[in-house]
Amino acid sequence: METLKELIKYCEDVAFDLNFTKAKEWKIQDKSRVLVGFMPIYFPREIVHAANGLAVGILGGGDKKQIFKGDAYYQSYICHMPRGIVELALDKHFEEFDGFIFPSICDVIRNLSGMFRLFKLGRFIKYLDFPQNFQSHIGGTYYQHELQSILDYIYEINGVEITAERLNNSISLFNKNRELTNKIYEIRQSFPWRMTAADLYNVVRAGYVMPVEEHNIILDRIISYLNEDIGNPLDKIRVLVIGAFCEQPPLGLIRTIEMAGCYIVEDDFLLGARWIQGNVDTRTDKPLETLCNTYLSQSTFSSSVYDADNPKENRLLKQFSDRKADGIIFAAPSFCDPALLDHPILQKACNDNNIRYISFLFSENTGQFKVIKEQVGTFSDSIKLWEV
Ligand code: SF4
Repeated sequence: METLKELIKYCEDVAFDLNFTKAKEWKIQDKSRVLVGFMPIYFPREIVHAANGLAVGILGGGDKKQIFKGDAYYQSYICHMPRGIVELALDKHFEEFDGFIFPSICDVIRNLSGMFRLFKLGRFIKYLDFPQNFQSHIGGTYYQHELQSILDYIYEINGVEITAERLNNSISLFNKNRELTNKIYEIRQSFPWRMTAADLYNVVRAGYVMPVEEHNIILDRIISYLNEDIGNPLDKIRVLVIGAFCEQPPLGLIRTIEMAGCYIVEDDFLLGARWIQGNVDTRTDKPLETLCNTYLSQSTFSSSVYDADNPKENRLLKQFSDRKADGIIFAAPSFCDPALLDHPILQKACNDNNIRYISFLFSENTGQFKVIKEQVGTFSDSIKLWEV
């Protein structure tokens, strides 16, 4: 059995392989297999799995891909991630992909779907409009049609029929995946020194680009290590990092926050992996309908979702209390409208409830962390020294 360090290193290598080698190797083993790339934040990977496919998370080039061509496709005042994705596309990193999903989270992602059409990538491009009505017979029915259209695209490619049994089996595997991922968060809630947030990030991100069956085995092994009494607690404050749900912060930034005196006990870095809260019921002969209704009733909160009946500031306060946090770090991608429009609402809730917070912006290719380290370090010290 590999050591914990070896498992994490393996995950980091797979997660940041911008050639998606793991996914492409999986595909060539069977000619009915398909690869479907999806952009942030959330996509129900279960349906692609049931259709003998692998849904692969596309999260940009981070600080590992230099942008030469991508800048020509976007104005300067938008976030960085789509430039990296365009660069990857033009450098043919997505050659073996069969289709692409663009969830409706912002104008930037919508425009990116248009560019992929121009590039003539894959066999289908789907701009996936998520329901904004949370009643099952309206939003749920609409969402089912949206997902069915993706299944129809895949059927055209590989002819695989989706049965209730197949889809329920896929849903079970992703239920398990979320359970195991959440278990690691729970262990870190009590013992955050047993695994760094950066290592956890690598492990979760690897699940975006490998078969769920393999990822579940890895998560299981990691949990068995984390159940042991490893590492020593340090004098750090406990923080939530909020706002980085789409464009991903560089690993160096996550490490910097921790080195500056914080344990990150909750984050929204790879929010799609834990989007559904709890399990999707698999005791049904209408699994697609159940999956859609679960989205309506069990989604986490996010800047990309207008959910007036369940205000996100209340949900943030609950998360803060559940995680027994000392403060919140609002870290948003530069020029990210959804994140930045939410921050005043969330920060007002913090002010009203005497919750300490700081805020800064980043880009996926930010390379200098000195200023952030000083800001976070001062935040951490001020809480440790003047705790009331
Ligand atoms: S980082 Fe923000 S603005 Fe950019 S694609 Fe994501 S949600 Fe849209």
